[in-house]
Amino acid sequence: MQILRTLSDLRQWRAAVPAGRTVGFIPTMGALHAGHMELIERGRKENDLAVVSIFVNPLQFGPTEDFTLYPRPFESDRELCERAGVDAVFAPEAGEFYAKDHATYCEVEGFDRFLCGASRPGHFRGVCTVVLKLFNLVQPHRAYFGKKDIQQALILRKMVTDLSLNLEMILVDTVREASGLALSSRNVYLSEGEKDRAVALFRALSKARALYLDGEKNAEKLKGILKAEIETSDPTRIDYVEIVSQARLDPVLSLEEPFVMAVAVFYGKTRLIDNFLLP
Ligand code: AMP
Repeated sequence: MQILRTLSDLRQWRAAVPAGRTVGFIPTMGALHAGHMELIERGRKENDLAVVSIFVNPLQFGPTEDFTLYPRPFESDRELCERAGVDAVFAPEAGEFYAKDHATYCEVEGFDRFLCGASRPGHFRGVCTVVLKLFNLVQPHRAYFGKKDIQQALILRKMVTDLSLNLEMILVDTVREASGLALSSRNVYLSEGEKDRAVALFRALSKARALYLDGEKNAEKLKGILKAEIETSDPTRIDYVEIVSQARLDPVLSLEEPFVMAVAVFYGKTRLIDNFLLP
């Protein structure tokens, strides 16, 4: 496995990939867990070569968010990638990745008005910019993203379509603990007690899904169920409970088109997100 530290390392590695070989790309911020490993496994199986990027992207963190605190266990990430059979890890320095005078950004208009976009201004602009730049460098045939971050995945899929990028977007199901808690690099911030309480996100989504499958088609009612169930876990703060269309990511009233039930909740200082796609 090769460790690529600079843009020129990556360009050289990519140029040496023989024509006709497919490249699968898995962008991450590191602190790898079984959710990332599922994406990596898929990337490896479905392509001749798999590249993982590990880069905590400063552009997608707000001024009061956890950029400096974000976990960066590079040695164990490297080992996990090695054991998973990854061909190359791209781990650039922020100083080289973005020049001091970087001024170009990519935005998918309208798709960040709700959900995380509403509470994290500029976040998805940062995500789109880093991913577009990574796509240009890696030139993958397929790119793998988790449905855990559903707004990110759908925004990036739209970016790929709108800009006619020549790659396939693969969205992978959320990997969970046995309790139902979605795996996240931020779960390490949770105390044992907070972790137990946070299972309420999965419980609430499961309850609302059961009602929907039983015939409930009123979005406000399902949102009420979600909120009430989350409130039983004594959350520090509910950031949002939303039901939005999959096509436009805007709130829907009746559930006649494919939709996402999505929640974001603080336990202590840690903000957790989860969602179900339906039907
Ligand atoms: P991150 O390192 O948090 O930026 O995540 C890198 C990729 O892994 C993103 O596409 C995430 O959606 C995905 N991911 C994170 N957690 C999970 C999970 N529990 N299940 C599946 N994919 C995940």
